[in-house]
Amino acid sequence: MQLYTKITIGLIVGVMVGVAANLINAATGNHVLIDAIGVTKPLGTAFIRAITMIVIPLVVASLLVGVASLGDLRVLGRFAGKTLAYYITTTAIAVTIGLALSNLVKPGGRIAPESRAQLLAEYSAQTEGSIALAAEKPAVKDLLLNMIPTNPIDAAANGDMLALIVFTLVFGAAASLLRDDLKRAFLGFFEAVNEISMIVIGWIMKTAPYAVFVLLAAVTADFGFDVLRSLVLYTVTVIAGLLLHATFTYSLAVRVIGRVSPLYFFKRVREAQILGFSTSSSNATLPVTLAVAERELGVSNRVASFVLPLGATINMDGTALYQGVAVMFIAQVFGIDLHWMAQLTIVLTATLASIGAAGVPSAGIITLLVVLQQAGVPETGIALILGVDRILDMLRTAVNITGDLSAATCIARTENELVETEATSLA
Ligand code: ASP
Repeated sequence: MQLYTKITIGLIVGVMVGVAANLINAATGNHVLIDAIGVTKPLGTAFIRAITMIVIPLVVASLLVGVASLGDLRVLGRFAGKTLAYYITTTAIAVTIGLALSNLVKPGGRIAPESRAQLLAEYSAQTEGSIALAAEKPAVKDLLLNMIPTNPIDAAANGDMLALIVFTLVFGAAASLLRDDLKRAFLGFFEAVNEISMIVIGWIMKTAPYAVFVLLAAVTADFGFDVLRSLVLYTVTVIAGLLLHATFTYSLAVRVIGRVSPLYFFKRVREAQILGFSTSSSNATLPVTLAVAERELGVSNRVASFVLPLGATINMDGTALYQGVAVMFIAQVFGIDLHWMAQLTIVLTATLASIGAAGVPSAGIITLLVVLQQAGVPETGIALILGVDRILDMLRTAVNITGDLSAATCIARTENELVETEATSLA
C-alpha cells in the first residue's frame, strides 16, 4: 500500500474517532474516549517536532547546493524575480476571491445577535492573548532589517527562516565563485547533508499515518461543534474560496505556465497537502514539500530548493484569502460598511500580512489583527471567529503549500528545469 493511502486512512479514521469521542462526551458526559485520545496526543507532537527538526539542515544544505551550482548569479536574480512576481500575484488573486465571495454571500449579515454576544464573551480571553502577541510584531522597517541576520546561527536557532534564507543565499552565491577543487569539496559536503536529511525524512514519514491519526483525532475530539453552527456561513465562505482558488488559479497556472495537466498536478501533490492539513504548518511540511516537488513533479533541485523554502515563509495564499473573508465577516457583524476603496486596501494589507505570517499554526490570526486595524474594524472581532480557526488553519495551510508547489512547477517549466515525464511533457 502506498504511503499516501496509509496517511489518508490515518486521517479518516482519526476524524471518525475524534468526532465519535466528541459526540459521546456531548451526549452522555462520558469522556473516557476523549481522555484516551489526550494520552496519545504527545505522539502527534513528537512527529511534528521530528519533522521540524530536519527543516534547518535540509533548507541550508539544499539551498546552498542549489545556488552554488547555478553557475551564473544572474540566473539567481531571474529566479528571485519570477518567484516573487508569482507569489505576489497569486496572493492578491486569493484575497480578491475572498473579498468577492464575502460581498456575495454576506456571511456576517445573518449572524444572530445572541450568537454574536456569546462568541464575543466566550473567546474574549483568547482575543486579548492574540492582541498582545500582535503588539509585539515589529514595524515594516524592522521586518526588512531583520531579514539581515547579525548572527546566522542565532537565526537558525530561533527558526527565523527569512534571515536564514538570506544568509544561505549570500553564502551559496559566493560559493559559486570558488575555485573548482574548493567548490567540489564544499558542495560534496552539503550534498551529503542533503541526502542524509532525505533519509531521515524517509524514516520519520514511516510514522506519518499513525501521527496523522492522532493529530486529527485530537483536533476533532476537542472541537466545539456548537460554534460551527453559528459560524457555518463564514466557514463555508472560507472553504469555498479556498477551493475556488486551488482549483481555478492553480489549475490555470500549472496548465498555462507549467504546461502540466492540473489533474496530474493535484494527484502528485496530495502527500504534501495532507501533511500540511494535519500539521497546520508550512514549515513543518517543508521537507515533504521539497521531496514531493522533486520526486513527484520532476522539479529540479535548483528550483525547488529556492522556490519552496521561500514559499513556506512568505507565500500564503490560503492565509490571505481567509483574512479577506474574516475582515469582511467581522465588519458585517459590526455593521461597518467597507466600500470598494477600503476593500482595495485590504487586498494590499492582507497580501503583506500573509507574507509577514510565519509558516506555523495560527500565525494567520495574529497578522489578521494588522489587517483589521488598517481597515478600521474592531480587533476584538476576532473573538467571533476563533472557535473555528483551528479547522480553517488546516485547510488554508494545505492551500498555502499547494501554492508553493504550483510556483515550483511553473518556474521550473520556464527555466527548462522540469524533468520530462509522460504527464509533464504534454505541452
Ligand atoms: N498555519 C499557516 C501555515 O503554516 C499559517 C496561518 O495561516 O496561520 O501556512
